[in-house]
Amino acid sequence: MIILNQYLQKVSVIGAGGKMGAGIALLLLILMAEEQNGRLVAVDVSEIALSGLKKYLKQQLLRHAEKNINRLRTLYANDPKLVSNEEIIDAFVCQAFERVDFTLHLEDVRGSLAIFEAAVEDIASKTAIFESIKAINGNKAWIFTNTSSIPIALLNDRAKMENRIIGFHFYNPPLVQKLVEIIELPQNPDELKQIAKDLGKSLHKTMVYSRDIAGFIGNGYFIREILYTFQKWDKSDLGLQRIETVTKDFLLRPMGIFQLIDYVGLDVVRNILAIMRMALPDDSFNTDGIDAWLALGIKGGQTFDGQQKNGIFEYVKGKPSAFFSLTQKKYVPLAKDLQIGEPPLGLTWHKEPLGKERLDEYFTALAAEKTPGAKLAKDYLHEGKKIADKLLKDRVASSIEDIATVLKTGFYHLYGPRNEF
Ligand code: NAD
Repeated sequence: MIILNQYLQKVSVIGAGGKMGAGIALLLLILMAEEQNGRLVAVDVSEIALSGLKKYLKQQLLRHAEKNINRLRTLYANDPKLVSNEEIIDAFVCQAFERVDFTLHLEDVRGSLAIFEAAVEDIASKTAIFESIKAINGNKAWIFTNTSSIPIALLNDRAKMENRIIGFHFYNPPLVQKLVEIIELPQNPDELKQIAKDLGKSLHKTMVYSRDIAGFIGNGYFIREILYTFQKWDKSDLGLQRIETVTKDFLLRPMGIFQLIDYVGLDVVRNILAIMRMALPDDSFNTDGIDAWLALGIKGGQTFDGQQKNGIFEYVKGKPSAFFSLTQKKYVPLAKDLQIGEPPLGLTWHKEPLGKERLDEYFTALAAEKTPGAKLAKDYLHEGKKIADKLLKDRVASSIEDIATVLKTGFYHLYGPRNEF
């Protein structure tokens, strides 16, 4: 950790005003504030994004301080001026906030030894950023890119990074999601690999290593499941709602596949598909399904403070209340009776793990069910296992346990790939 502390002395986050950048900046800032060490340079090209970031950091630092007041009492134990909870919380928030320099100028990363990149998912933009950083900083910093699909080797080659770049892929939102996928290059210096590991530990993340293949484990799975969805979907309005209900309720997930597409954003999903198609030409990563919606201006995604925007669904208080009918070209109410039956045992998704026995019981009951919903759920479970097998065969993941960890800690699934379907 000594080496890590040395790197924290000046850390930069590029794209700090974005969804992921803001979360990454917050995590690093909390770490710095608790270690009482370091400065954070928050860079973004958008002034609006930076002012949103300021608001977000203040709110979240306050929340963090309130939740962790006992730890902060120990941290400030030697300061006789700080007595009440309020004084300690105030001191923590102010001191943490003072560690940040907000800037529109990339030149301000000069002198950083660690730089986190969380700008848009686009090869040319990321390459241009890395080239500029090199010109400013003389290729001295270690670069941690948050790309969720672009091969790190490709970025390394295009921007001539001399292996000083590593994939450090947080999940959305970074503060909450436990998972970080780490994508090493074989030629990464040991020091960089070690810093990435120490950092993951210090941020209390669950780290899973993925091979450097477009999409890595997370999107390698998710994007293939989307493609499967477009194959299964008969393009009818009822068909969409059936798939949504099955992939949520019957598969015991927090949201169905179409809501998950909205959550990520249709344009982001499209970009990832296009990157995977370019990098993996043997696979059929076509964007047709997503393009049909995008052409009608259906985008989804989230506002800065995590509110879901309308996309395939229209949202009221974060919950789907209507869906966009491609046949009627407007939002229409959700159908009441989907005629697919009910998931067995009355189980639903819980944030807490269900336990192996209860899950086995559920899947045994599901296997015996003959309703259209159960049948479709079994098709998805079968496909999920096929996707997992492909990720293993291509050595994207080194074990089925790693895939299960990604699904559970990155997507809130209650279980990993199942063998019995
Ligand atoms: P976003 O659009 O919310 O944020 C990107 C930010 O980068 C914006 O504030 C933008 O102004 C800024 N930016 C763009 N070009 C810049 C430049 N040249 N210099 C500095 N700032 C620049 O995007 P996001 O969803 O936060 O995604 C960021 C990265 O994280 C992408 O690589 C994405 O694939 C990855 N990622 C996203 C998610 C997700 O669910 N959104 C999850 C995991 C990883």
